[in-house]
Formats: sequence, structure tokens, C-alpha cells
Amino acid sequence: MASAIFKEREKQVYLKGSRPFDLECEKESLAGAVSQRACVFCGSRVVLYPIADALHLVHGPVGCAVYTWDIRGALSSGPELHRLSFSTDLQEKDVIFGGEKKLYSALVELIDRHAPKAAFVYSTCIVGIIGDDLEAICRRVSEEKNIPVIPVQSEGFKGNKRAGYNAACRALFRLVGEGSTEGISPYSVNILGDFNLAGELWIIRDYFKRMGVQVVANITGDGRVDDIRRAHGAALNLVQCSGATMDLAVMMKEKYGTPVMRVSYFGIEDMAEALYGIARFFKEPSIMERTQQLVREELSALYPELQRYRKALSGKKAAIYVGGAFKAFSLVKAFRHLGMKVVMVGSQTGTQEDYRELEAITDDGTIIVDDSNPLELSAFLQEKEVDIFVGGVKERPIAYKLGVGFCDHNHERKEALEGFVGMLNFAKEVYSSVMSPVWRFVPKNSQGMLDGLSSHKEKILRCVS
Ligand code: SF4
Repeated sequence: MASAIFKEREKQVYLKGSRPFDLECEKESLAGAVSQRACVFCGSRVVLYPIADALHLVHGPVGCAVYTWDIRGALSSGPELHRLSFSTDLQEKDVIFGGEKKLYSALVELIDRHAPKAAFVYSTCIVGIIGDDLEAICRRVSEEKNIPVIPVQSEGFKGNKRAGYNAACRALFRLVGEGSTEGISPYSVNILGDFNLAGELWIIRDYFKRMGVQVVANITGDGRVDDIRRAHGAALNLVQCSGATMDLAVMMKEKYGTPVMRVSYFGIEDMAEALYGIARFFKEPSIMERTQQLVREELSALYPELQRYRKALSGKKAAIYVGGAFKAFSLVKAFRHLGMKVVMVGSQTGTQEDYRELEAITDDGTIIVDDSNPLELSAFLQEKEVDIFVGGVKERPIAYKLGVGFCDHNHERKEALEGFVGMLNFAKEVYSSVMSPVWRFVPKNSQGMLDGLSSHKEKILRCVS
């Protein structure tokens, strides 16, 4: 393992039990290490992308727009304007003479053509270098077209993905507070940090409906501009993906006094605790009763099914590498329910607090890593002989090249993994990947198969002779 880690990164890797906990994180990525992290622009794009009735215009070279085109499997129950990728396609001439005119024309044309409820204009690396005044162009178009046109200051080079989350939250905060709060129940929430991947948000909204809790705004999965504008009227902000949306929750707390609760909708305990926590917050006995009933019903359907998968998967080893560490907590617990052992866990943007919590819930010998790269991850997977790797699009090829099972738990997933039903889907997916017969054919496992084949061949030859 040691040979795969650059000297400058040694303090960002920790082997639990080897020494007192002292992991470094929240640093800029090491140049040349080929970090798995995305750029600032990408960070802001993944947060804002699921707002389905807004126009998303990337001010920069077409490559930045292509890189983030349809970047999430974020479903919409209505408009799908978010799925189109628009770019000002900056060229050398624009770099020399400036791209403001091009930006103005693109905005006017797109707003006339698509009539969006709002427009987000993303700044990319080159815009940061040439210094186009996004704020001024957006203000001008906003006045002319009478819709919010919001600059997202997300120049790719100005930090890491976390800075992009912050830029997105600042852009969103410009919308909050503009709409009417009429008709909002005292038992109401905003859902922050859920991106409606594979329709997961609809599962969670259904739970809240059964509890008697109103959802004011989904921020940002299946998002609508008008809902976000009245989000300040909700009684509580529920923050799931805390790295991405906690900054918005903090701004809303400071300005509107909206309380914040961190939740996770993944796995059994965290899903149940999220619902009970909300019920406790409202101090309304009927909400608590309905919540207890809901959890009872869901678990009685889930447990017998889960046992089947647990039987097959017990003792298998898992590695986790995700964007935000909060999701990793739930995944560690979810694997325990399947009788599996997590031997490596890491994230792109975890904080000290996140990693301390990971250290507390993992077993001795677990590798905990911040801002990793393909070289390290490959070495960890091999050293720990893992059976399944959980990650996203950039981790998938690492797993497959090493002949290891893979579970997509990131932007692009097509399977709903949230909620109680999501735990069952997760178990099914892990089972299908880990137990797939295809792994018998990869080089590291093929010797046994070849031995089997040759003995089979010998038997046939003996019979024939
Ligand atoms: S913003 Fe910069 S780092 Fe990000 S995709 Fe565009 S050019 Fe690359």
C-alpha cells in the first residue's frame, strides 16, 4: 500500500488502529496526483442541475458544458429543461476580445425560446481568466426579461469541488425569500441535498405525506424555481448531502431563522432515525404515531427479504469511495446489515468531523482516505481483496479492471437506493454484482477455473480411453 501513496499525501490516508486518529483533509488536491475530485464548476453544476424549469447556461468552452451534460440521473415530474446543455462556446477570439456580447445574445435567445422560470449562468476557468462581468450581464438580462438571471461564480480553478457547492448555494440563496409563504403548514419541511436520482425523492416525499408533513421545496431534485422562492416559509430544513447544501441551510438559518436537521435516507437505521427525528421536532403526537406505523409497516416487509441476501453475502468485503462522507456513514451501516465488512472508506470532500465519525463506526484495519486517486484506490482494493467497490462513474473502471464487483451509488445511478425499499434494492444490486459468475473469468480468479477445466478434460480423456 505504501508504495502507491505519494509522500505529500501520506497524512490523508489513515489505517484504523495503527496510530491515534490524525487524518488531514480539506486541502487542495496534489498537482499531478490525478485526484478523483471534480472542479469547482462541476461542483456547482451537480447541485443546481436538477432544477428542472430553469435555464442552465455554461459560459465557457463547449467542453465544460459537455463534461457536465445531463450529469445526474435526476428525474423530473414535469419540465425537463435542465436536461439540455447550453454553452456560449467561447473561442480564441472571445478570449482576446471578451465574451460578454456573446453571453448577452445567448441568454436573450435562450430565454425567448424556452421561457424558463429563471436562468443560472455558470462561470468557467477561462471566464475567470478573461474577467467577463457576469454579474452585470445577468442583471441587465434579468431587468429586460423580468426573470431571475443568476450568475454562478464557479471558475473551475479557484478551489475544489466544495467551493462549487458554495457557489451553487449562494446562487440559490438569491432566489429564496422572493415568493409568498401563504398556505404553508406549521408542519412543513424543505428537502435539501436530495437530487431525485432514479426517483428517490418521490419515495421520501411519500413517507412525509404519510406522516402528515408538508414539503415546501425540493432543493434541488425535481426542483422548481417558484418552490425555492418560498422555501423560507418552511418550518424546518432537512439537509441530506451536507457538503453540497449545508451552506444554503446556514444562510437560511441566519436570515430567516429556519432550523436545520442533518438526515440520511440511506440504510435502515438512518432512514428510520430521519423520520423519527422529524416527528420529534414537530412535537405533534399524531405525527409520531403515523411515523411509528410507517416504520413498522416498511420494516416488516423489508426484513424477511434482506435475510436471504445476508445469508449469501456474509463475510464478503466492501470498499467505499464517494463524494461526500455523510453518505459513507449510512453505507457502512448498510453493509453491516448484509453481514459484510467495510475494509476501505473514503470521500472527495469529507471534513475532520466526518472522518472522525467514520473512524468511530469502522473496524480496526479499515483504510480511511481523503481525496484519493486511481493509483491509491487500485492498491487498496488489491491489498484488501475486496469483493465489491461502491463509488461513481470514475471509480467503476478501477473496479472492473481489477475484476472486482461494483455498485454505482453516485449521480448516474438508475436504481433508487434511498428509503426502506432502497435498502432492498441496494442488497439486490450488491448481491448481483458480488455473486456474478463473471468474476470466475478474470485473471486473479481464473486459475481455479482452469484447474477445474483441466481435471474435467482429464476425466473425459480417461472415459474416452
Ligand atoms: S471549468 Fe475549468 S476545470 Fe472545470 S471543466 Fe471547465 S476548463 Fe475544466
